[in-house]
Amino acid sequence: MTQSLSPSPLPLWLDWVLSATPSGLLLLDAESNIVFANKWFLLRARVSVDEIVGRGVRDVFAVLQGSHFERALVKAMRSGFPALLSQTLHPSPFPLYAPAATAVSDNLLRQSIHIVPMGPTDAAAAGQRYILIQIADVSPTVARERLLKAHADRMSDLVHIDALTGIGNRRFFDESISAELRAASRTGTSLGLVMLDIDQFKQFNDLYGHPAGDRCLRAVADVVKTVCRRPRDLVARYGGEELAAILPDTDDVGAAQVARDILQKLRDLGLQHEDNLGRSIVTASAGVYAGVPQSGDSADVVVGHADQALYAAKNAGRDRVYCFDAGRQEAVPG
Ligand code: GH3
Ligand code: MG
Ligand code: MG
Repeated sequence: MTQSLSPSPLPLWLDWVLSATPSGLLLLDAESNIVFANKWFLLRARVSVDEIVGRGVRDVFAVLQGSHFERALVKAMRSGFPALLSQTLHPSPFPLYAPAATAVSDNLLRQSIHIVPMGPTDAAAAGQRYILIQIADVSPTVARERLLKAHADRMSDLVHIDALTGIGNRRFFDESISAELRAASRTGTSLGLVMLDIDQFKQFNDLYGHPAGDRCLRAVADVVKTVCRRPRDLVARYGGEELAAILPDTDDVGAAQVARDILQKLRDLGLQHEDNLGRSIVTASAGVYAGVPQSGDSADVVVGHADQALYAAKNAGRDRVYCFDAGRQEAVPG
């Protein structure tokens, strides 16, 4: 049997306090009938006192039926212990909206809800309990958190992006190669690495100027990006005019093919370079290494192999691919 609350009107000061409280207050009796709702709640639920007082909270707000809120309410009613519904797991249990005057959108308010049983705490007294439901609008906090997270994500992206070319920077390369080595060693798959260096780039700068050199570097980076388009391929500027492609799940044949494709696409671009060992277009040389890493293989070793192959490609005349042959421990044409 529900105990009745005092029928006497609220003292004026208490009415003011309840009206001024910047959160929703809803009082339910032991049958979950609404006994009281403060102005904050009425305004945001877009209902009047007459529409809701005396009615079951689940009848007034049908969305609560079968909800986590309903289960928490029943549990709190039975146990006498309070419950908190965080906005992370249960963003908007009640159909509450910003008050009409300030409404910028019709989005549901994000809510943090306390369910506080009042009255006797012993189990037998469940039928005499009242439940105070306190609702805080955490929408501004959620919006601020979202903004901060977007900002943090953007900053984290910037930390890994090369400003000139828009591909990954050296930090990105270092972190990625280590992570991919560990992943490849764990799964027993081959990891490919292509190191690419523009031919006679100093001469290009000397002949056409540094701004043209920058544009050329961007164009080469675009070519590498275009060729390395598998979702897991990673492209970075290793340093200066040296670019790198990390190719997970790629063997030596596949990695050499990627390197040859890059060089061919660059030739196809036909960027003028009149001081490139008689070739008159921009070209690049590539060193390739691929293999299944052993656990503990360091990035230095893998990069060293690809670099050795790149050096061999330069020595052999440039504009070509060399691959590091692990069996022979030397670079061979690829
Ligand atoms: P090689 O064929 O042996 O690779 O000759 P190279 O002239 O390309 O090699 P080297 O390493 O001697 O020169 C690299 C040049 O790349 C020197 C440097 O001015 C230029 N470079 C490095 N970073 C940038 C950049 O961000 N912008 C421009 N425009 N040039 C750059
Ligand atoms: Mg170079
Ligand atoms: Mg270089």
